[in-house]
Amino acid sequence: MFFVLFGTRPSVSETAIVRFVCHFCGIDAPQRVFKRSARFTLFFVPLFSFGTKHAVACTNCGATTELTSHQSRDAERWAENRGAEHA
Ligand SMILES: [Zn+2]
Repeated sequence: MFFVLFGTRPSVSETAIVRFVCHFCGIDAPQRVFKRSARFTLFFVPLFSFGTKHAVACTNCGATTELTSHQSRDAERWAENRGAEHA
């Protein structure tokens, strides 16, 4: 008898912190950019991610806005450049 164990596991990772005035609360607050995806696992080993969604969440009010992967990359780049300015 041979069993193949496979499944999915949710994965959330923060990719950047940006700062702008939130559309929801109107406060200039840090915004967490993160991506959510599901990982396909085989024998509990994560093999690949699928269904990746990008979003930004306000640290003040918690409102979440979906982003395209392009917008998410722009946010990461913005955060990197900003980090360099302060270094
Ligand atoms: Zn907000």
